[in-house]
Formats: sequence, C-alpha cells, structure tokens
Amino acid sequence: LTAEEQDVIDEIDEKNVDFLRLQFTDILGTVKNVSVPASQAEKAFTEGIYFDGSSIDGFVRIQESDMRLDPDPSTFAVLPWRNGDSTGGAAARLICDVVDTSTGEPFSGDPRGVLKSAIERAEEMGYSVNMAPEPEFFLFEEDEEGRATTKTNDAGGYFDLAPKDLAQDVRRDIIYGLESMGFDIEASHHEVAQGQHEINFTYDDALSTADNVATFRAVVRAIAAEHDLHATFMPKPIARINGSGMHTHMSLFTEDGENAFHDDDDEFNLSDTAKSYLAGVLEHAPAITAIADPTVNSYKRLVPGYEAPVYVAWSDRNRSALIRKPAARVPAASRIELRSPDPSCNPYLAFAAMIHAGLDGIEQDLDCPDPVRENIYEFDEAKREEYGITTLPSNLGEAVDALEANETIKSALGEHVTEKFIEAKTQEFGEYIVEVSEWELDRYLEKY
Ligand code: GLU
Ligand code: MG
Ligand code: MG
Repeated sequence: LTAEEQDVIDEIDEKNVDFLRLQFTDILGTVKNVSVPASQAEKAFTEGIYFDGSSIDGFVRIQESDMRLDPDPSTFAVLPWRNGDSTGGAAARLICDVVDTSTGEPFSGDPRGVLKSAIERAEEMGYSVNMAPEPEFFLFEEDEEGRATTKTNDAGGYFDLAPKDLAQDVRRDIIYGLESMGFDIEASHHEVAQGQHEINFTYDDALSTADNVATFRAVVRAIAAEHDLHATFMPKPIARINGSGMHTHMSLFTEDGENAFHDDDDEFNLSDTAKSYLAGVLEHAPAITAIADPTVNSYKRLVPGYEAPVYVAWSDRNRSALIRKPAARVPAASRIELRSPDPSCNPYLAFAAMIHAGLDGIEQDLDCPDPVRENIYEFDEAKREEYGITTLPSNLGEAVDALEANETIKSALGEHVTEKFIEAKTQEFGEYIVEVSEWELDRYLEKY
C-alpha cells in the first residue's frame, strides 16, 4: 500500500465506515456504484475490484465484459447523507479508474481515462490544465407521490435574499454537505430564474474538477431530496425563462506554476498561448457542443435572449458570446470562460473535448479573431456575416453531425467512446423527432 492508501484505510477505521462505494461514470455521465464492505479496502487498492462491464451503458460487449476498478485514494470522501455514528453505519466513496482485464490497460470506454489522456497531452506540451465550472440547477417541489414537478419553491431572482429566497436553508445544507466532502465553496446565489441556483467551488486541476462535478450533482440531489425538493440539472426545464448552464472557466499553467494564459502587456491580458487556445475552442465549438450539450433539451437552452450562447464568437464584455474573458484581479486568474456547456453533460468527456480543441489551436498556432463587444443577440444575419460569426448547432441532430465531421474531437474521445456516444445520441434524437408535442397539438389540432 502507498502512504496515501494507508491513510484511507486509517480514516475508514476512525470514521466507522462500513461500506465503500466504488464509483465510475458511464459514457452518458451517469455515476455507477459498486458497493463493497469496508473490509475490502486493502484488496481494492492492491488487486482492484472486478465487475461485469457488459451491464453498463456503452461499455463493452458480453464476450469481453471483465473490467476492473482501481480506486483513486485521493478521492476518498465520507458521504454526508450516510455519515453514521460512533457504532458505525457510515458510507464513503472512492472514484475509480476502469481497467480492461484482458489487456491490463486503461479501458478505452472509461470517460475518466479519456480525460486523463487529454491532460497527458497538455503535460507533454508543458502545461497543466485548470478548470472551474459553474453548474446551475433548479429546485422544484415534489408532488404527493414524491415525484418531481416543475413548480418552483420560491419566486426569487438574481442574488435575492430571504424571505423571497426560501431555498436558502437548502442551499446552506448543500454547502455543508459539499464542504464535508472537501469542496472549497466560493459563493452561492440565487440565479436569474425563479427556483434557480448556483453554487461555485474553487478551480482545480481538470481531473479533480470533473470528479467534483460528478460529486456535486449527487450531493445537490441527495440533500434537496432531504428537504422534499427535487434538484434538476436538466438544461431547460421551463420554456421562456433562463435555463441552466455549466459555464467552464479554464487556463493552462506552466511547469513553474505560472499562468500561461496571462500577459500583462496585452489589451485583454491574454497571452498568445491563450489566444490560440481560444481560437481552437472556437474552431471546434460545433463538435464540442455535441458532448457539452448532449441532450435534446440542451438546445432549448441555446437560444437567443437567455444569457446562453448561440453564436460562435468571443468577448471581453458581454454574455451573449460563446467565450467570455472575465476580468481578472491577479495574473493567476486570467482565464477564458466557455459558456455553452450545460450540467447534463458528462464532465470528463466535455473537459477532454475542450482541452483537445484548445491544444489543437495552440499546435496549429490558430489566429484569434477580434472580440465582439456588442450584443450579438441583436445582430441580423447580414451583420453576423460581416463579422464572420457562425452559429452553434441548433439541435442534437446537427450537433452529432458536427461531431461526426470533426476528426480532432473524435480522436479526443477515442474510437470506442465516439462510436457509442454517436450511436446513443442518434437514437435519442431519432426518438424525439417522431414525437408529437403539446405545442403542436395546441397550434394545429383545431386549426386544420
Ligand atoms: N443561466 C444562463 C445560461 O444558461 C447563465 C447565466 C449566468 O451568466 O450566470 O447559461
Ligand atoms: Mg450563473
Ligand atoms: Mg459564468
């Protein structure tokens, strides 16, 4: 056992942990659990835990189904809603890497492994990658049977305070829960829409941040449920009001801990490296959208007028652009914010796609276009054309087409994930387009 692994074993003992949940995510971003008694911890670290991968979405075919979970000791955390007492009863989780037992290599269908490869590519180029996401979510009331409704439990607005912001207590409990799992919470506020919230945690390396997003969603849902509320990360639960995004801030640091995105002398404080990275993300934006906005509903959010991006452009000012350069107080904080991702995405795959896109921009030394300072929502087609501004895919089908046509993003995901992802999303979109919606019935049933 390594020292870190031994520390985990000691902590299991001290905190009376009875069960360990070994976690990983499938291609669609759903967290999967294999629960083992805490007495198996040492074995889990030394030998790994074997499981049948054929029952996991997008994993493997039946005849090659033996997978192994290798827990990452740095991800040990006691679950706040199962923290037991002095006699035991606590449960803890460990996030795992998935290994293909037939080759002993990382399994190519493991999203965490896909992100690790992206990070390795950055490291080979001399960079570490920092990420900070801003996942937004809604809190809805449950009906008598405990099912989710779309009735919000408050009528608050941006940064509103109590008594309007009835969700304050829930948000406080969520924050305690997150802190107990090692999160460093920077801020939390009521978002623009009624019932909508945002909790920000500090930036970290890309892998830890993706792990954090997966944990964040689980904690928010579990603690909301304790208050008889349903937390949803669905991107656009209610038409005609703001949806939920997961803006992702990113920067590259050099090996000596300097921010490779910062340049004191630049008008925007962005280095040439940052600008090429930014240009790479713009270049590959349509294909990234398939991964970062992976549901039919995601595209109901990406429409003009609700602070969500539609147009492929960047800005140092306004929030209608796809990429924003936020003001930075210190050089370490110079970064770019990609505003398209939504919290229904698989964070591992979405971050991997963004990183490869940016690194491709650096490698190709792409030119960064000028920022657009006006409100792009108000541009007409002619003006967009004049500025050379293209649009993001307008539905999941178009996004999947963009992914299919983009070799850079496909190779970022690897063959296995690309194939399974496109297969699943093509089916999802196909099911959607044959549906007849309420809107159509209201509009046409009596008219024709
Ligand atoms: N809710 C908005 C979105 O869909 C973002 C609002 C904000 O700027 O925080 O992306
Ligand atoms: Mg926000
Ligand atoms: Mg933001």
